Amino acid sequence: EGHLNPHYTFDTFIIGKGNQMAHAAALIVSEEPGKLYNPLFFYGGVGLGKTHLMQAIGNKLVADHPDAKVKYVTSEAFTNDFINAIQTNQTEEFRQEYRNVDILMVDDIQFFADKEATQEEFFHTFNDLYNDDKQIVLTSDRVPQEIPKLQDRLVSRFAWGLPVDITPPDLETRIAILQNKAEIDQLEIPSETINYIANQVDSNVRELEGVLSRVQAYSRLKGEPITTDLAYEALRGLKLETQSHQLSIVDIQTQVAEYYHVSVNDLKGKKRLASIVMPRQIAMYLAREMTNNSLPKIGKEFGGKDHTTVIHAYEKITEKIKLDTGLRKEITELKKGLR
Ligand code: ADP
Ligand code: MG
Repeated sequence: EGHLNPHYTFDTFIIGKGNQMAHAAALIVSEEPGKLYNPLFFYGGVGLGKTHLMQAIGNKLVADHPDAKVKYVTSEAFTNDFINAIQTNQTEEFRQEYRNVDILMVDDIQFFADKEATQEEFFHTFNDLYNDDKQIVLTSDRVPQEIPKLQDRLVSRFAWGLPVDITPPDLETRIAILQNKAEIDQLEIPSETINYIANQVDSNVRELEGVLSRVQAYSRLKGEPITTDLAYEALRGLKLETQSHQLSIVDIQTQVAEYYHVSVNDLKGKKRLASIVMPRQIAMYLAREMTNNSLPKIGKEFGGKDHTTVIHAYEKITEKIKLDTGLRKEITELKKGLR
């Protein structure tokens, strides 16, 4: 619990299309906490750098102002601390600890779902800090509105500042991350091989790092330098492992077709009926969100459509979700069914 990872700094964070807004906001907050974006709220899938960026703010604050009171916790740690405090009659101490800080960072607040008493306490913590112009930074795997059983007053407070999403890194960013990693770890990797490795992972920086360590370990084991051939060999087994329990585009099409009472062929087809276009776009959206398939591959699985059609569908649904609570609910339900 509680302490900052010294490696999670701005220096080691690679900026790309999917995280540049989040990065810019983080930097501003680290320079002028409690001023512009309060709370700062990062959301996005696992392994995309939310924790890294959040802690980078804390690390910079401590570096710039050694007396700054910086508190970082996961939402589970907050919950456990609170429960302990109640059980040991130390709620006053608990409040001191959480409200007497310059910046409070709570990671993965989706785990506040269902925890009524904790939400109540966090509501008061939030208000206290906010009224004192103290900075609050939060992360979650989804927008506040989509967190199940999160009290409306928290949902609305979380939207007061700046909610920014972090989306999966594109190829250029993945390459840059690998290059940076290789440099830090003093690895010699030909750029062709970096390229190859960057193409093996679609959507997740943590996985990308995992793949790189696997190649690194394999190279050490064989006593051979890292080449594309070696990377290929090192990763061959991995692909099979992940494929076996990974959600497929077909799974998504089947589920979406059933949910909206259309046929899978309709989803793959070209009919322009609204009752079919919408489910088709939703299925593409989910394929993009929930699988590691590339855009061209998704297009192909939807009856040979162009990758720009997939992008269009993805953006359309992303926009719609922001306004349409009904749709948001449907997508949450679909996701639940697919997990
Ligand atoms: P999340 O909290 O979103 O699940 P993390 O912050 O734990 O993701 O990131 C997972 C791993 O990927 C960490 O080791 C982190 O340092 C690394 N990482 C994520 N994004 C970047 C980035 N843009 N540049 C460098 N490393 C990154
Ligand atoms: Mg995290």
